[in-house]
Amino acid sequence: MSFNQDNDRNGTSTSLSDIEKKLIRLESVVEHLPAAVLIEDENRTIVFVNDQFLQLFRLTLPRESLIGLPIDEVQQLSEQDRPGTGGLFKHLLKPNIPDELLLKDGTILERICSPIASDELNLGSMWQFRDVTEKRRALYALRESEERYRKLIELCPDPVFVHCEGIVVFANDKVKEYLRMEHAEELLGQNIYNLIHPDDHESSINLIKNAAQKNKPLEPAEARIVRKDGSLINMEFSLSPITYNGQEAFLGIGRDVTERKQQEQKLQEANEMLKRLSHMDGLTGIPNRRYFDETMYREWKRSARNSAPLSVIMLDIDYFKDYNDYYGHQGGDACLKLVAETLTNHLERNTDFVSRFGGEEFVIILPDTPRSGAAFVAERLRKAVEDLAIPHVRSNVSGVVTISVGAAGVVPNSFSEPQELIAQADKALYQAKQNGRNQVKLF
Ligand code: GH3
Ligand code: MG
Ligand code: MG
Repeated sequence: MSFNQDNDRNGTSTSLSDIEKKLIRLESVVEHLPAAVLIEDENRTIVFVNDQFLQLFRLTLPRESLIGLPIDEVQQLSEQDRPGTGGLFKHLLKPNIPDELLLKDGTILERICSPIASDELNLGSMWQFRDVTEKRRALYALRESEERYRKLIELCPDPVFVHCEGIVVFANDKVKEYLRMEHAEELLGQNIYNLIHPDDHESSINLIKNAAQKNKPLEPAEARIVRKDGSLINMEFSLSPITYNGQEAFLGIGRDVTERKQQEQKLQEANEMLKRLSHMDGLTGIPNRRYFDETMYREWKRSARNSAPLSVIMLDIDYFKDYNDYYGHQGGDACLKLVAETLTNHLERNTDFVSRFGGEEFVIILPDTPRSGAAFVAERLRKAVEDLAIPHVRSNVSGVVTISVGAAGVVPNSFSEPQELIAQADKALYQAKQNGRNQVKLF
């Protein structure tokens, strides 16, 4: 047994009583406590102090000389030995004082008083004093910095939140305002994705994953947020991985970009409007030459890809110079508008495209239409204009406004050019004019 082995080793142990051994052990424990220790008996007489006690209170007299002294006397000794401690003893050894004392030199002492009692028998007290200056200073510094950051977040004009595995664990008052909630607490415990519009879930999840991998702040991301009342708000978010209560989390700060989004939308609409305007003919309201060029190019490519037939119809009002001369420019304009409207109304497929080529010439693109189909549509348009029965007393071919029409069709390939097809339709139109006008010619 270890007890016996101990005895054998130090030999003298046989001469000590069990009580004495017990005392030696206890004294050794107290001696080496990481604290300054003073033990007093029930009469407030010192029975023990350790070296650290002398050091802490800067007492220069030998340890033994303190034993047996009443506490009050040591108090005076301390005052002499450590001027400016302001009767530290008096305070330290009085019960019911704060457990932490700030000394004049800035030292912070922690005091622990443990009564020594056995079966309701008061045997005095053990006082422990620990210099906790550094520990406390670090704690205060931490508290101060925490306080600073908390204030910063509270005063921040933007919503700030923390989420841990997608669950909101912190939110400032601004969040409440933005989400139109009564209390920011309503948000705590909620899954962050309940607040994001479903269409923006995927991008948000990806962003958070990226942030977690890179462990650095994310590029700001945008998401639509669903408010408590169901309305939407466009927010831009910055996220940064942080540790919150020891757990991996994300600190988020949001900014309302709804207004910016609206401005962007307006700008986009204005741009589209401008684009439409730049593509439309001011007089007739149908697409202009520029729009025709773009559409022709696109349709040509598409047809070449699909090996699909593509046709073009070119038409020109007969004796229109004479019409202008007789009915005046305004009359001429009104006639052009009417013809444009009629052409538009007599094209049945929504892929058919009519535009004003220039002057009193119009050009029509018929995707997925062979020559035969183009000839058929051309004749329908010629008749439709004739049927308008707009009087034209100066026409040499009829008493009403008529058109001459040229049509051409091809299956485009990568070696041919759209200009060739347009030129063919133009040639056919020239033939229709040569042949007496008010008729259709197929190239
Ligand atoms: P043809 O039967 O050979 O086509 O004879 P035309 O007189 O129609 O041919 P020409 O190309 O010589 O004349 C076209 C005329 O169209 C010239 C101009 O008086 C008229 N014109 C062109 N653009 C406009 C326009 O925007 N408004 C009006 N009112 N007239 C226009
Ligand atoms: Mg002309
Ligand atoms: Mg003409």
